[in-house]
Amino acid sequence: METIAKSAPLNRPAELWRLKKRPPKMLLQEDEQVSNNTLHSAGEIGNTLPRPRPCGGPFRLQASILVQDRQEDPLVLRCDASSSSSLAVEAAEFDAKAFRHNLTRSKNYNRKGFGHKVETMELMNREYTSDIIKTLKENGNEYTWGNVTVKLAEAFGFCWGVERAVQIAYEARKQFPTEKIWITNEIIHNPTVNKRLEEMEVKTIPIEEGEKQFDIVDKGDVVMLPAFGAAVEEMLALSERSVQIVDTTCPWVSKVWNMVEKHKRGDYTSIIHGKYGHEETTATASFAGKYLIVKNIKEATYVCDYILGGELDGSSSTREAFLEKFGHAASKGFDPDTDLIKVGIANQTTMLKGETEEIGKVLERTLMRKFGVENVNKHFMAFNTICDAFQERQDAMYKLVDEKLDLMLVIGGWNSNNTSHLQKIAKDRGIPSYWIDSECRIGPGDKIAYKLNHGELVEKENWLPKGPITIGVTSGASTPDKVVEDVLVKVFDLKREELLQLA
Ligand code: SF4
Repeated sequence: METIAKSAPLNRPAELWRLKKRPPKMLLQEDEQVSNNTLHSAGEIGNTLPRPRPCGGPFRLQASILVQDRQEDPLVLRCDASSSSSLAVEAAEFDAKAFRHNLTRSKNYNRKGFGHKVETMELMNREYTSDIIKTLKENGNEYTWGNVTVKLAEAFGFCWGVERAVQIAYEARKQFPTEKIWITNEIIHNPTVNKRLEEMEVKTIPIEEGEKQFDIVDKGDVVMLPAFGAAVEEMLALSERSVQIVDTTCPWVSKVWNMVEKHKRGDYTSIIHGKYGHEETTATASFAGKYLIVKNIKEATYVCDYILGGELDGSSSTREAFLEKFGHAASKGFDPDTDLIKVGIANQTTMLKGETEEIGKVLERTLMRKFGVENVNKHFMAFNTICDAFQERQDAMYKLVDEKLDLMLVIGGWNSNNTSHLQKIAKDRGIPSYWIDSECRIGPGDKIAYKLNHGELVEKENWLPKGPITIGVTSGASTPDKVVEDVLVKVFDLKREELLQLA
């Protein structure tokens, strides 16, 4: 165990906790829970530590599994048969770029907020920031409480796109205090933030038999689009209903949409590196002309092998087998024999950068081989659309796993793609790593329920090593610092109990 110069007794988090201001009345419900549970346990060490909050509501295991399952199922829009159905518009005839251009200039559309930024940021700071994280940052991202040393990744937590989306959502509530507010999907993949919005009476458009029920939205209602964006068909359905649209789509995601629109104009097929069924990839595909979604380098290599007639690695076979493999992840009428002659690359912003680059390279080499190096620009188009914020979190994670750590805590929504990639980095390095979405996954006792990066849920007893420990900590781009604090408080609580038993 290395010596850590900067340290504090184990009761330090409790002192910090008391400094926290009370949230305003508007969000009192959860605060009352916190306040009621700041109970002191017996014993000298325990007197100053807060008890963790009770777990329930959206944190229930089953609820999160349902969210995850739902995300994997592609959704279908249900349109009013009497209206001019948006879905009847064939992709080839429909100019999504012109539609988006006109929509963003209409008076019922807002993507910049309503002038309440200062007060909503204050509110968010009270809700989501953490004094423990502040202490860590002030001390070079490393600090010791009692016998627990925490090493925090240099980049972690809320990215600016997520912060911006949540802030605009808060502004919308303030701007429209009495109107019904809907959202087409979770604003971000974090249960704490989503619960907050529920408390603010922001309702998710219901889904029946896999179809979003837009009929529930009335003229004059407000509808928010989440940070991952929304499919063009959803925007069409909403614009036909004369609702106020508040668009929180991250500009990085819009940048990818611009890219696939460019492919479409040049008659290139968009090869989208992403997860079929993920909201962002669904939205991106809706702006593309012809598209094919590949989830990893293995699938991309299969596509390249098909382009080269089996001469790359022999992994592909017939046209029928290709369509069976990718039919669900390709545009309507996709034909691998005619639609892979000109291709452009695009990505879901939270895929691993290295893998997107690898896919771009294998495609480029394939098209060079097929059509000649001198013709590659006529057959391949690529621009960098990988999000900087997510890249920084990955790079920081690679740096953190080089440290001497007893275990890693990866904190973020269980349906968060970027968090799963962070978890994978720790796992690949052989560090015991636990991906949890809230402190409620810890306990009772020394037990933890966590997710592996490929989605499996597991439980483990006695997961915390005895004695002094060093924990690496990171959090996904949708995770407020407060959630990280709650997790650390729970760990400190367990270690405090261990000390009490030894005393
Ligand atoms: S991770 Fe990147 S693309 Fe996603 S919301 Fe954040 S800034 Fe935007």
